[in-house]
Amino acid sequence: MKLATMTAHRGRILHCLRDPGEAGDLDAIDYFDDGVLLVDDGHIAAAGPSASLLPGLSESVKIIDHEGALLVPGFIDCHVHYPQVDVIASYGHQLLDWLNNYTYTEEARFAKEAVAQSAAGFFLDQLLCNGTTTAMVFATVHPHSVDAIFTAARQKNMRLAAGKVMMDRNCPVELQDTPQSAYVESRELLQRWHGQDRLHYAITPRFAPTSSDAQLSLAGHLAAEFPDVHVHTHLAENRDEVAWVAKLFPDSRSYVDVYKRAGLVRERAVFAHGLYLDDQDCVELASAGSSIAFCPGSNLFLGSGLFDLDRARESRIRVGLGTDIGGGTSFSLLRTMSEAYKALHLNEQSLPAVRGLFLATLGAAQALHMENSIGNFDIGKEADFLVLDGAPTALLERRIGRTQSISEELFAQMILGDDRSIAKTYLMGALAYSKEPVPP
Ligand SMILES: [Zn+2]
Repeated sequence: MKLATMTAHRGRILHCLRDPGEAGDLDAIDYFDDGVLLVDDGHIAAAGPSASLLPGLSESVKIIDHEGALLVPGFIDCHVHYPQVDVIASYGHQLLDWLNNYTYTEEARFAKEAVAQSAAGFFLDQLLCNGTTTAMVFATVHPHSVDAIFTAARQKNMRLAAGKVMMDRNCPVELQDTPQSAYVESRELLQRWHGQDRLHYAITPRFAPTSSDAQLSLAGHLAAEFPDVHVHTHLAENRDEVAWVAKLFPDSRSYVDVYKRAGLVRERAVFAHGLYLDDQDCVELASAGSSIAFCPGSNLFLGSGLFDLDRARESRIRVGLGTDIGGGTSFSLLRTMSEAYKALHLNEQSLPAVRGLFLATLGAAQALHMENSIGNFDIGKEADFLVLDGAPTALLERRIGRTQSISEELFAQMILGDDRSIAKTYLMGALAYSKEPVPP
């Protein structure tokens, strides 16, 4: 071991080993009340009780004492639109009107490279101050919007997936590409960025209504050429959208079938929402190794509907949480867990706190097929983690003071917490955000 490069973070350590399920099985988590997270050259070297880890450390190992604060793996946002930061909290529409009235107008501004660059930097700063260390990101139709987000993410050494939006119909002319131009531009971007440092390319048709058959099938062709890239799109978010897809693709059995015929239902395909699926759709998504991004904040804000998490789990579909900014209303995965809890309650389902943590960390990593690199504190994984402030507000300090267990404390953070709960965010062991100024 190269002890000279090691740092020991002392605090309370919590991470998921597997899915705690609807019952919130506490055997699925590891929790150390006085623990150490040992980081070696940006990777996890150990996570365990300080009583067993500290005595064996050489004097050259730097020890950072977080004074009893809770350390958890970095949050992972499985579905978010960086060009929509400036239309978040826009009033009063469901999905299809939302797109026409807010999204497309905003995305047209990204024809200017400077607009994309400014939004990309702001967006990544928002992720980090909310404790989000990895995200699956929509850009716009403009290739330079992808260059902007990847350039900014690379500078911060973030693990991030993104792609150029493909759309060749049913949207404003200035935002339309063609099947061929979308294929060529996506291919060029993919070859420029995929696998560079911590970056992943995602083939990104917006959703079935804005892509012709020809465009979807070229997207599928590209996916077949590059099996290790992601596919990222929307699926069955809103009833009017689902009816429109049935009209546009009369030969397809279902919305999932539209993507399946194009070769887009596969491993590393991440479908946002998936509210209106039938049993066969679930079987097809699960057997293909595809994933769903569950975006409860957006589903409630846009009045889209309620996700059936229990059925997704029974079907063995990989599921992670997404904020879906700007249809969603918060960058915070803590807030998103809270929205998930409420949305699931309306569906007579529940979300124990440890399962909320799972859906924002290891479960999300599995949904993005990145669980070998991130998602928990297994030895060898990349040291993306955050430090939760135990007293971010007077109310949380008071409430946490009355909690009796780590589950209760985590639940209080999940229901009452937001960006104020994030004291520090680390990327590969390096401090990337601190709420308090760091002394020089
Ligand atoms: Zn979306």
